[in-house]
Amino acid sequence: RAKSSRSGHHVFVGADDDHGDSRLRMMEDLRGALSSDELVLHYQPKIELGTGRVHGVEALVRWQHPSRGLLPPDAFLTLAEDVGLMRELTRIVMGKALDQAALWRARGTPLTVAVNMSPSTLIEADLPERIAAMLRARGLSASVLMLEITEDFLMEDRARARDILIRLRESGIRIAVDDFGTGYSSLAYLRDLPIDELKLDKSFVFPMADDARAAALVASIIELAHSLGVRMVAEGVEDAVAYDELTRYGCDEAQGFHLTRPLPAAALDAWLAARNAP
Ligand code: C2E
Ligand code: CA
Ligand code: CA
Ligand code: CA
Repeated sequence: RAKSSRSGHHVFVGADDDHGDSRLRMMEDLRGALSSDELVLHYQPKIELGTGRVHGVEALVRWQHPSRGLLPPDAFLTLAEDVGLMRELTRIVMGKALDQAALWRARGTPLTVAVNMSPSTLIEADLPERIAAMLRARGLSASVLMLEITEDFLMEDRARARDILIRLRESGIRIAVDDFGTGYSSLAYLRDLPIDELKLDKSFVFPMADDARAAALVASIIELAHSLGVRMVAEGVEDAVAYDELTRYGCDEAQGFHLTRPLPAAALDAWLAARNAP
């Protein structure tokens, strides 16, 4: 009894607090989800502008909940972070993404996969070694993997972030900065850190179509990235207008509903096959 009351999680049980109660249930469900394999990945392709080719996808987690259906990440990632399940969740996501990458490679249709990494998962001291072991177990080279990190990670502890990124980059894994432009960060990290790709946040892309100043800003950001040797990927490309403008500005890749929503692997394979059909 003493043991179970020391588990530390009763902190969420408010006396007569419905919210706390359902949160506790969700937490127990999430623990179960991790051990009974209820997480699924959907994949959204990144299209190379100009050629229209697809070289890589982003893995996005969903939870196939036994009674509540398919839950989006916003419904459970904060909870996972709060109750200390994020590392385990990320390990599961990484394993599934690399399994899929190995399958694509075995079929002769190799694709790189990008995995989202929260700051709390990046600070694990042995992360590069653990990822290397996961790659090795599947016979994959590190270049199939890209990690998407956020600007807040870069700002928390600059020296430490730099050390972590350099070690990851030296192992051959590529690094993308997600939601670029939304953090309150200085741009100095672009000079100092080994960044391969910037993912321009949707909030810059959405207003481009009807706002010349918004479009000019995007064009300048693309130029900035290129002058530093960094690839630029636009998120939230929802229509042909944005797609065409980004192409004209020399943006490298685009991701968004205009091309496709994130799809389960089998549906993505079908989508790719239909695209490549003559
Ligand atoms: P994100 O990394 O910025 O991922 C892009 C999100 O934008 C995805 O939402 C995607 O479905 C959505 N999206 C893609 N194209 C469009 C578009 O054209 N228009 C609009 N309005 N939205 C678009 P999703 O899958 O719900 O993921 C939400 C967030 O959850 C992600 O944002 C990411 O921060 C987080 N996330 C997802 N999977 C993981 C994961 O495995 N680990 C971690 N740590 N975070 C994850
Ligand atoms: Ca992302
Ligand atoms: Ca993003
Ligand atoms: Ca986001």
